[in-house]
Amino acid sequence: MSSSSSPRAAARCSVCGAPAVAYLPYARLRLCPRHLAEYVERKVRRVLRRVGALRPGARIVAAVSGGKDSSTMLAALAKLAREAGTTVHGVYLDLGLGEYSARSREAAEAACRAAGVECTVLSVKELVGLTVPELARRTRRPVCSVCGVVKRFLLNAYAVEYGADYVAMGHNADDMIAYAVKSFLSQDLGYIAKLGPATESVKGLAVGRLRPLYEVFERETLLYALVTGTPFLHEECPYRPEAPIEQEIKEMMNRLEEKHPGTKMMTVRRLERNIEAYHVFQRGEVGRCPACGLISAGGMCSFCRLTARALSEPMGSRVREKLRGMLRGD
Ligand code: SF4
Ligand code: ZN
Ligand code: ZN
Repeated sequence: MSSSSSPRAAARCSVCGAPAVAYLPYARLRLCPRHLAEYVERKVRRVLRRVGALRPGARIVAAVSGGKDSSTMLAALAKLAREAGTTVHGVYLDLGLGEYSARSREAAEAACRAAGVECTVLSVKELVGLTVPELARRTRRPVCSVCGVVKRFLLNAYAVEYGADYVAMGHNADDMIAYAVKSFLSQDLGYIAKLGPATESVKGLAVGRLRPLYEVFERETLLYALVTGTPFLHEECPYRPEAPIEQEIKEMMNRLEEKHPGTKMMTVRRLERNIEAYHVFQRGEVGRCPACGLISAGGMCSFCRLTARALSEPMGSRVREKLRGMLRGD
């Protein structure tokens, strides 16, 4: 893992003495499957408690993609939420990415079944009339940039209509560090303010994000899925860019971590501690999109602008109506 299955993996678990499957240099721990799972769950519980997300009666929409991070996030979150009386509901977005979407949907539904939570599938084609690659072609924009706009809108719109307190995402500690470093390099310091383990909801406009894996490293999410038998798809999206800058930052951080174990944990913890300080860099008021009524940075939201360009009509309001129908069971 920053850490991982190393030669030392043949050694004994630091807790119970059983054969270890992972060595975590930053924590000076060797762990067997059971204690590795417990270790990850403890980190998730700590973060969820710190932000106050584990409350009886709270409702969390969990974004599941079928990948290892969101499947691990869902498994640990559902387990801890059940103990606390918090409801978790899985949502899978079918983006229309061909066979990859079919396979990731299967994995996401299997992860929801294994976690014992309901799963709602939202198809972009059914809700909007076009798949993500079709929207990208019509608007001549990169697929990933269109995909980001569509995912953000649909998850938020569904969570608002569902009356959720949070949308839980599968971002892990390595992701958070990479986003923060990337934002620092471009001096987009206002964005860093959004990189805490939970972000604030804005009543009626936006549901806050929750990041249960805030202190769990990427290799740990993989090992957790493997040792707990959590289903996930071992495949990358075919549209993923060759070498995204975030990936290079992660590799750089892993090299640092190897030389100085504990660097990554220190970074993510200090990021959380200092997050308030970055609010001063956030520009602009929070606005309401005149077309769909959800959050916007000013004028129409990105989703309504995108769909207006592709279909000559902003689709946000229609999509919200369809989601309300789905939730009523029409
Ligand atoms: Fe969407 Fe791009 Fe991610 Fe694929 S790689 S899921 S197209 S953002
Ligand atoms: Zn053990
Ligand atoms: Zn809108």
